[in-house]
Amino acid sequence: MSDWQRTHHCGALSSADEGTEVILNGWVHARRNLGGIYFIELRDRYSRLQVVLPEEVVGDLHVSPEDCLCIRGKVGLRGPKDTNPEHPTGEIEVIAESIERLAPSKVPPFEIIEDLDTAVELRLRYRYLDLRRPDMQRKLMHRSRFIAAMRNAFLARDFCEIETPILTKATPEGARDYLVPSRVHPGQWYALPQSPQIFKQLLMISGMDRYFQVARCFRDEDLRADRQPEFTQLDMEMSFVEEEDVFATWEGVLGDTFREAMDMEIELPFPRLTWCEAMNRFGSDKPDLRFEMELVDLADWVPNCEFGVFQSALDNGGRVMAIRVPGGGERISRGQMKPLEKQAKELGAKGLAWWKPGLEGGGAGPLARFVEGDVGASLLSRMGASEGDLLLFCADSEDVVWRVLGDLRVSVARQLDLIPAGPYRFLWVTSFPMFERDEQTGGWTSSHHPFTAPEDWDMKADPGSMNSRAYDLVLNGWELGSGSIRIHRQEVQQRVFELLGIDAEQQQEKFGFLLEALEYGPPPHGGFAVGLDRIVALTLGLDSIRDVVAFPKTLTATDVLCDAPAGVSAEQLADVYVRNTTTVTAGESEHGVAENPAPAGS
Ligand code: ASP
Repeated sequence: MSDWQRTHHCGALSSADEGTEVILNGWVHARRNLGGIYFIELRDRYSRLQVVLPEEVVGDLHVSPEDCLCIRGKVGLRGPKDTNPEHPTGEIEVIAESIERLAPSKVPPFEIIEDLDTAVELRLRYRYLDLRRPDMQRKLMHRSRFIAAMRNAFLARDFCEIETPILTKATPEGARDYLVPSRVHPGQWYALPQSPQIFKQLLMISGMDRYFQVARCFRDEDLRADRQPEFTQLDMEMSFVEEEDVFATWEGVLGDTFREAMDMEIELPFPRLTWCEAMNRFGSDKPDLRFEMELVDLADWVPNCEFGVFQSALDNGGRVMAIRVPGGGERISRGQMKPLEKQAKELGAKGLAWWKPGLEGGGAGPLARFVEGDVGASLLSRMGASEGDLLLFCADSEDVVWRVLGDLRVSVARQLDLIPAGPYRFLWVTSFPMFERDEQTGGWTSSHHPFTAPEDWDMKADPGSMNSRAYDLVLNGWELGSGSIRIHRQEVQQRVFELLGIDAEQQQEKFGFLLEALEYGPPPHGGFAVGLDRIVALTLGLDSIRDVVAFPKTLTATDVLCDAPAGVSAEQLADVYVRNTTTVTAGESEHGVAENPAPAGS
């Protein structure tokens, strides 16, 4: 060991080490000069430690915040009135015998403190300094512990960790691909995986039986808050299983993970709801179960009421539903109803009917005059409501009613602080629709991905009414991950491709290798993937995943630290047979078209 290298880290010492000669390495967190005696708070990943520097030791060295130091000295006990019981190393100090600066620091652009209030861009630009903050280091360490615990839980269940390619062929998960041009094959491109989906299915065909991977996935999606173009999944697949086997495996894994990484028991098993039940009860396929406020179907009550909008919604094949906001009658003023009405309209409703029931019937809101006497009384009993509550109604097509009430349910509950912060309420949502209409092309797209099995292998029904064997895991209103039982029958896979508008020729070109593999005894199989960034953030009580990703990108998919994406030289482009047809001038945004001048296969 060289003479400057640490014998202990800052958190490794306590009063039991009194008198021990130590060498410490770390950064200057703070410094003070009390009448000729210098104090430095030395910081490393583990803790902070007070170092006392007699004047003769300091000499003419001028120490600045964030300098990287080597301190040699002896552990001593602090005097009783200097002891800091709040701090783990608050009983001791190191009396320095020598100090050496390993590297000086410029004045950092922001302070390295816990509660930093600085623009995100600046933090990301100097991410290495941002990550010097103990708070950020704790988050990364939690992430590491959490992933290690998950890995152990899978290994303990006979899963085998296997890496799959990053330079590969398109794996559709509903986003655009990131493409990489090939130098060796002019005019040909790799795609970065949107997920390891096809490879993990091939591993099942190999007989590997139980696979998992901490997998980086790449999806070129339009800008959406709190999405990263590259992110990490805990991805897995198993053979010879049905939905319940996948659920039981994950419940076991998550139970073990929360116990090992967080010393916490979670409630098992998780409840299950079909997609249809979730939509009907909560207006959402990722309902937050920490609070009630469920949607109530009023179809059979509507004929009692003379409000024409309700009846005509039903006559047009739509629905009339409502939610009860407990205490909302008192806590939401007439003025505060305006933003809710606006929200409903933005979500597609024509308006928002509401009622604050009064003591003796009547009450306030546009619906009040239609719900007097028995009509109102029957509505109250149907809704379990009473004076002081607020009822919000939506009468429209089913999609609009679910969307509007599902959204209002969450935002009003947040506004009134009706969501308890503590509990983890997991939920499996099952039986998703198999296909959705693509609004632009009018054709069918997969609700999950094209490898998901239909509930009925015969696929006789109309595509719009087919259910799939896809499932999601939801935690407190967030979608944590998705998975499905897969198609292991070649003819069913071909039929699904056909319905998605992929003709036989394209099937061969894009997925021929999978279709061929399905001819060699594929086992029935299914799997799942959890977004690790999301679950790690939620377990730290964070809404944003950015704080648990070491080097995240901004909303415009930019890495502001190293300034990526960036231009490349004409030579580099020529090497990979790409011609850039965009001229980017400083300050302009980069929306370019890259042409590939080489004819395919040349
Ligand atoms: N590929 C995943 C799965 O079905 C889903 C996803 O990536 O979201 O297992």
